[in-house]
Amino acid sequence: MAGAQTTPDTADTDPVTQDHKPQSRYGDDRLREECGVFGVFGAADAAALTALGLHALQHRGQEAAGIVTYDGAQFHSDRRLGLVGDNFNKQSVIQRLKGTMAVGHNRYSTTGDTILRNVQPLFADLDTGGFAIAHNGNLTNALELRRSLISSGAICQSTSDTEVILHLLSRSDKRSIVERFVDAICQIDGAYALVALTNDMLIGARDPVGIRPLVIGKHKGAYILASETCALDIVGAEFVREVENGEMVVITKNGIESHRPFPKRQPRPCIFEYIYFARPDSIIDGKSVYDVRKQLGVQLAKESPAEVDLIVPIPDSGVPAAIGFSQQANVPFELGIIRNHYVGRTFIEPEQRIRKLGVKLKHSANAGIIRGKRLVLIDDSVVRGTTSKKIVQLMYEAGAREVHMRIASPPITHPDFYGIDTPDKEDLLAANHDLESMRKFMGAASLAFLSVDGVYCAVGHEGRNSQNPQFTDHCFTGDYPTRLADQTGSKGPRQLSLLAEVV
Ligand code: AMP
Repeated sequence: MAGAQTTPDTADTDPVTQDHKPQSRYGDDRLREECGVFGVFGAADAAALTALGLHALQHRGQEAAGIVTYDGAQFHSDRRLGLVGDNFNKQSVIQRLKGTMAVGHNRYSTTGDTILRNVQPLFADLDTGGFAIAHNGNLTNALELRRSLISSGAICQSTSDTEVILHLLSRSDKRSIVERFVDAICQIDGAYALVALTNDMLIGARDPVGIRPLVIGKHKGAYILASETCALDIVGAEFVREVENGEMVVITKNGIESHRPFPKRQPRPCIFEYIYFARPDSIIDGKSVYDVRKQLGVQLAKESPAEVDLIVPIPDSGVPAAIGFSQQANVPFELGIIRNHYVGRTFIEPEQRIRKLGVKLKHSANAGIIRGKRLVLIDDSVVRGTTSKKIVQLMYEAGAREVHMRIASPPITHPDFYGIDTPDKEDLLAANHDLESMRKFMGAASLAFLSVDGVYCAVGHEGRNSQNPQFTDHCFTGDYPTRLADQTGSKGPRQLSLLAEVV
């Protein structure tokens, strides 16, 4: 069977730990994925383009990355723990990944002990040939499916929900790989932007409401799939279009074929891509993420002005909204906080204890600017409130006279199950406190969040149409657009890890 072998992942990067429970960085043991994906079809330097694309998508996942290529005879796979730039920067590494077709993945591992067998792309030898798959998002019926697969004899190698898709594909009684893929995705629920590679095609797919993003680009005759347009920009590819919600694209030497396996639904992309997750230079649905973030700040200033001398962003996440706020309020914007760029995102550290320390390592007060001043601090969102509390304190310690807090999104009152990893309800500040107790917790002189309608206005709508919401906004509204079988099944909320299920 052509191309059904892979060259192994590099041995020195494979510290497989067998006996751990996956831990989210929030300290519970639920599996989550939030990632970046990239795919290339028909480029001589497919692996190098993929490494560059993953580098541009590094903000979507920093713990591990992998690339699988196909060279016309054989698949090659390299999956490593750590940053793309530290691992896929050497000629020797890229040269081993031969071929004109590739898929790649950045993983935002939520496991306490990161293990290589969870790092994507996952590869399997199917009776149709080799098959590699990379997934951004999170399935909401993976546990349900996995239980049933295991009870009928499946042997799972990873704890990733993505592996379920591989099993469904391999067990499908359909003949062609395209039909099997359709068969598999018709059984999964939740959020997914998938890229997959066979020996003659690159496949891309988005879930029926298009929660996670996926775009198509073209580069000198080669096709590219990527989570965000910033990954097209880095390789000099032109943007063709987005993969639509519920669409599956099959790219072969004959071009792109589009399949619509699901009944038509209105798109509901995740609003959090605009608020926090996507890179500001990306374009989503024709709108610049940067412009939307500025508009969030404009709306916030209209809804909740404050009598102050300065507008200070919490860097980097609050910067565009603070610019918008400052322009709307006609109050000077100043960098009152300096961020140390050599520390990763606060959320990377899996333990709360280390995360708290991380905030201190990350931000310092620019005391000369803020001493004696009344200021508004702007951030994009509040999850646990750890960042806001630390920074309000930092500002007062540095001599600020009044510190007001403004948040350019609504209170996060509901957990996420689709891959952005906002934690259990009990850990969400806004799920358990009213505005006044949140203000007290942060120690701010005043506190305000943007309204849900304000978010919709910033994205160019008139407000939220509750009959027909245009975004996945469950974090703020509790309106989940898919079935949540793993949360609400007959056995009640299931928070056991997949590994714990199988031991
Ligand atoms: P917290 O300190 O727990 O309130 O977290 C809020 C900070 O985390 C804000 O500065 C956000 O920019 C950032 N943030 C929000 N959502 C996420 C997420 N899903 N992953 C990582 N960081 C996030």
